[in-house]
Amino acid sequence: MIELLGKLEEIFIQIEKEAKNYQQTESLLCPPGCGLCCESHEVQACVFEMMPAAIYLIQNYLDEKYYSLLETKPIPEICIFFEPDKHLEGCCSLYSKRAVICRLFGASRVRDKYGNPRLSVCKKIRQRDSLKIEEISKSQDRILLSPDMEFWHRTVLNLAPPEYSILMPINQALKEALQVCCWEFPFSGPNGPDLPKAA
Ligand code: SF4
Ligand code: SF4
Repeated sequence: MIELLGKLEEIFIQIEKEAKNYQQTESLLCPPGCGLCCESHEVQACVFEMMPAAIYLIQNYLDEKYYSLLETKPIPEICIFFEPDKHLEGCCSLYSKRAVICRLFGASRVRDKYGNPRLSVCKKIRQRDSLKIEEISKSQDRILLSPDMEFWHRTVLNLAPPEYSILMPINQALKEALQVCCWEFPFSGPNGPDLPKAA
């Protein structure tokens, strides 16, 4: 499992680089302080991709606190890491361990119903840069430079052990990841599994 989680963190870093480079190149960066995408009750992740977050919480003795909070929250709910009042990057209290969708929500490539690539941009950036997005959407070359949402999701789900690869509300995925990781790495603490640092 540790080896798989190491690979997952490397994938997180790759996605992060690709997404940031694209948003920088096309000047589609998120406005500072925005976390609108995290306000959705529909953010989904699989248990596997929330394991780095769970291990971080265990290593920092925060697992019990977060597990209790998750037990009191209805599921689905707004992500437990969303903290808009703290002036954090992306309003996320665990930004470096966030899920795949969180890294690609700003601007990424999806397929339309005919299988053609199209640019998918979040509501906030779409409202701010509608003319630019219209212009980019006319160029297949520019669309193809964007990170491929389906590819990255598939890469992570293929890496995940099948029992931890099912998409579900993000809080539920974190709760199950905490259960699994507390079982797998019971004596973690600060000296627990040494995972590569995420982006
Ligand atoms: S993990 Fe962070 S970025 Fe993802 S939904 Fe939660 S608060 Fe938002
Ligand atoms: S992806 Fe969009 S909604 Fe989310 S933080 Fe960036 S600009 Fe805001």
